[in-house]
Amino acid sequence: MIKRNEGFSKLVSGYLFPEDAKRRREYQESHPNAKIISLGIGNTTEPLTPHITKAMVDYANGLGTQEGYSGYGDEQGLSELRQKIAKVLYSDTILPEEVFISDGAKCDIARIQVLFGSNVQIAVQDPAYPVYVDGSVIMGSTGKLENTGYEGVTYLPCTAENNFFPDLNLIKPNTLIYFCNPNNPTGAANTKEQLKQLVDYALSNGCIIIYDAAYFAFIRNNGIPKTIYEIDGAKNCAIEVNSFSKLAGFTGVRLGWSVVPSELKFDDGTSVKQDWNRVMTTLFNGASNIAQRGGLAVLDEEGIKETKGLVDYYLGNAAIMKETLNGSNFKEVGVKVYYTGDSPYLWVKFPNYKSWDIFDIILDKCHIVTTPGSGFGPAGENYLRFSCFGKREDIEEACKRLSSLNLSSVS
Ligand SMILES: *Cc1c(COP(=O)(O)O)cnc(C)c1O
Repeated sequence: MIKRNEGFSKLVSGYLFPEDAKRRREYQESHPNAKIISLGIGNTTEPLTPHITKAMVDYANGLGTQEGYSGYGDEQGLSELRQKIAKVLYSDTILPEEVFISDGAKCDIARIQVLFGSNVQIAVQDPAYPVYVDGSVIMGSTGKLENTGYEGVTYLPCTAENNFFPDLNLIKPNTLIYFCNPNNPTGAANTKEQLKQLVDYALSNGCIIIYDAAYFAFIRNNGIPKTIYEIDGAKNCAIEVNSFSKLAGFTGVRLGWSVVPSELKFDDGTSVKQDWNRVMTTLFNGASNIAQRGGLAVLDEEGIKETKGLVDYYLGNAAIMKETLNGSNFKEVGVKVYYTGDSPYLWVKFPNYKSWDIFDIILDKCHIVTTPGSGFGPAGENYLRFSCFGKREDIEEACKRLSSLNLSSVS
């Protein structure tokens, strides 16, 4: 018999979102009339916009003709798209050959874990998007589970007390640092000065940063960098992973990219980009050609206008929810909302409740699904994440229900 990959037996529990969905399903089964609204998983709800849809439809139609058909493309992606990303999103501060097109940021993060192998030590913001830690556990690059997290993972608490920017001195030298900004789940957006500290720390300590910028399009405040490469020196210490998912509603279409600068080196002087190219050409076979045409359209003038409208819609939802959660019925029991307006997530502290307990109460009393903060890491305990992806009418209905929630009467 073949031995099971030890990584799987080390994983604490199921992936967070299946557990979230399971509780919702069980609740629905026992309360068939409840009209449950999900403010849980960060999934987009608004349709693709016209210019972008048309580009994909036209291309797909072409695929059914002799002249328009194409098979495999370059594993690294269409050169036209690599150029356009470099130009439109990075103002040509990076080179097209440093951009690698993929089927999404999460998938790239998994492949990055292959790139660095199982002997790398990692540090994560705590709380964090689950794939950073869970993927590393599956890869075998972390030790066993201790009470509050995995031995071998450096957790960097990001809480209200430190303004959601971690104490960098916790990070050991030569560590792979996962850093998400604007952050999922906390919604925090770190400033240029803070990111400069991060980059400087990485440079002086031999660390590499995996910078997840999936929510860059939601940034509205000045002084919040849209890419890590706005920081001097970042090309020597950072890979940026990014995605069309939250930018243009491509969660189901599947399209992302990673930037691996030519300057980035391993300790023996070899190029990280060279090995990343090997990973992509060996383990990946290129993003969908239809999706890549959609990606090109996203970065047209028309596409940029349309996607800004999409993102503004979700930000509008967030503003409505912020007001509701700041209501007196919540304030009265010490609830505190953290939200700067640069992300689709509200991070809300319920000091008197464990995350899963308040999750169950809100599901039961309001028929609303949220995401428990503790599922994102030990420092997420007592918090809930409210996602603002959703139809406006659902958000308004959810807010109505939340406004009449009386937590002081719930035991
Ligand atoms: C949604 C999300 C992604 C996007 O993943 P895709 O695979 O591109 O859909 C990446 N990182 C974070 C933190 C996310 O929330």
